[in-house]
Amino acid sequence: LRDTRSLRDYIRTIVDFPKEGILFRDVTTLFADARGFRMAVDQLLTPYAGLAIDKVVGLEARGFILGGAVAHQLSVGFVPIRKKGKLPGSVISEAYALEYGEAVMEIHDDALKSGERVLIVDDLLATGGTAAAGIRLCERLGAGVVGCAFVIDLPDLGGRALLEGMGYDVHALTA
Ligand code: 5GP
Repeated sequence: LRDTRSLRDYIRTIVDFPKEGILFRDVTTLFADARGFRMAVDQLLTPYAGLAIDKVVGLEARGFILGGAVAHQLSVGFVPIRKKGKLPGSVISEAYALEYGEAVMEIHDDALKSGERVLIVDDLLATGGTAAAGIRLCERLGAGVVGCAFVIDLPDLGGRALLEGMGYDVHALTA
């Protein structure tokens, strides 16, 4: 029998995680399934396959899993953007606002060269704060952001509008 499951069917929603009232989209079930994971990686890179991309930049943590596979498929290198204090070398940092407080993301200051064209990858786009911080880090190193690719877009949270309003290409596979 032909398998007709769509990408969405592999993603489950966990109620009240990490706190009450939050519906958390859990992509571990997508990553664990061979067909689902391949669908996600293939669909993420489809719009960019013909474009000149020098590096894939993945956002901690699920962006590492997806971005690593996308980089391998595009035969380009992978660069991690991590939460504060995790990268061992010399870094530059970007702080951004969360619902309560702020978060800081970092990239190695020699990870991208001026003029390099990067594709940013993460699992989910919500307010866009994380992705916007990632974009700023890439641009501060002189790189150009060709696109931002996500498995899930939660459009009500405004991330797509924010990034597209800043002129960036946003590619998402499901809402
Ligand atoms: P934003 O900065 O766009 O508000 O939030 C996106 C970031 O938070 C991403 O790095 C994403 O991994 C994480 N995130 C927020 N909500 C969820 C969720 O429901 N499921 C998953 N898998 N990640 C989430």
